Amino acid sequence: MSTNIQSSPAVKMSFPVGMFTNSYLFGQSAKNFMLAAGFFFGITVIRYLFRANKRSEFDYYPHDKVIEICKFCQIIKDQQCNLYNDEDVMAFSDGGPLAKQHLLIVPHKHIRHINTIESTPESLALLKKMQKVALDLLKQIHLKEFEKQQALSDKPLEFKEGQYLLGFHRSFAISVDHLHMHAFELPFKSTFIYWRKTCWIFFMKIEDLISYIEKQIERQLQRKVTF
Ligand SMILES: [Zn+2]
Ligand SMILES: [Zn+2]
Repeated sequence: MSTNIQSSPAVKMSFPVGMFTNSYLFGQSAKNFMLAAGFFFGITVIRYLFRANKRSEFDYYPHDKVIEICKFCQIIKDQQCNLYNDEDVMAFSDGGPLAKQHLLIVPHKHIRHINTIESTPESLALLKKMQKVALDLLKQIHLKEFEKQQALSDKPLEFKEGQYLLGFHRSFAISVDHLHMHAFELPFKSTFIYWRKTCWIFFMKIEDLISYIEKQIERQLQRKVTF
């Protein structure tokens, strides 16, 4: 039995791929150059996405001026928040909700984004407070809004873990130049929003940020001990 390998579709398919993987049309050095160029292009893209201090107009202004321009600083100054306000944080509902419930938790201090949070116990306390305020508010609104449903059904109304998502924009994806935590009660309004908001490239969950800052503080302490 004879089979014609030349005319088999699998061999035909692999022909253009072989042009790049073997040094057939390109020399070995050209192939290596392309690989290296691809590698550095990839690194550049990643570095662009994760660069720590993206410059904005805010960087060139003194602190007083920043507070004058910043949208969230103005809301804090005018006490326009409708849900919660104390000496450290405030909370209000998002104008264009993306989920069943969508709140914003904003610290009074003007911090640009998660990369400019200092790794100090004070920041840690602030983040934990933001988390607590968000969960309390979500729970409160959830229970208030669904009291009627509770009255109709026998099932006890509870607020479970996994029913909410708390987190921040990554530094390159910030919408407003003032640190704010988005607090969602699931489900999201669409699959695309769900994907965009839960994807780690765009969004950092509060739990991850807290554990990262805890580790940084631990490292600083270790450094102090060794010196
Ligand atoms: Zn601000
Ligand atoms: Zn935002």
